[in-house]
Amino acid sequence: PPSDAIVLFDGKNLSEWVSVEDNSPAQWIVNNGVFVVKKGLGNIQTKKSFTDYQLHLEWQIPSKITGTGQGRGNSGLFLASTGKGDSGYEIQILDCFENKTYVNGQTGSVYKQAIPLANACRKPGEWQTYDVIWTAPRFNDGGDLLSPARVTVIHNGVLVQNNVALKGATVYIGQPVYTKHGASPIKLQAHGDASEPLSFRNIWVREL
Ligand code: MG
Repeated sequence: PPSDAIVLFDGKNLSEWVSVEDNSPAQWIVNNGVFVVKKGLGNIQTKKSFTDYQLHLEWQIPSKITGTGQGRGNSGLFLASTGKGDSGYEIQILDCFENKTYVNGQTGSVYKQAIPLANACRKPGEWQTYDVIWTAPRFNDGGDLLSPARVTVIHNGVLVQNNVALKGATVYIGQPVYTKHGASPIKLQAHGDASEPLSFRNIWVREL
């Protein structure tokens, strides 16, 4: 990591992470320098909160992945966790190497909002990188939106979101809306599908 980065996972433990549900220590499984999603325990998020930042994250779909569509290696990177569960702004993580799904739900999508510019997915079993630049939304005292969130995403070295303005927080059905918030944790998704869990490693952030 760069010398001014905050390391969020260095391969040893999840001391920078908590359970979204009850704020208890994160219990996903750390093993051999990586950690593996523990689906039944729900999402985890950083203890620290962030506004604008650069993030580096590495993730791996298991080589023995099964399932189809959104049920194949689904996780997600929430750039600001604005509440419990999946509240926030999700960049989709999914196996889209040889797996069809709706275009705004592919790997690298701003989920249900912005289609990625390319499919840069590697084969299951190979490590993949996300490098993200996040500009948080700004609100006035009354809660009105002053400026939308913006995101740039580079997946495995390929630009897939180019300074895209978000329409609001991620929703599965309906129109995204903004609700005022300040600095927020970064969150990872334990998606409820039946496919084998993903691994993560080498996560750091630089505040901007
Ligand atoms: Mg997801």
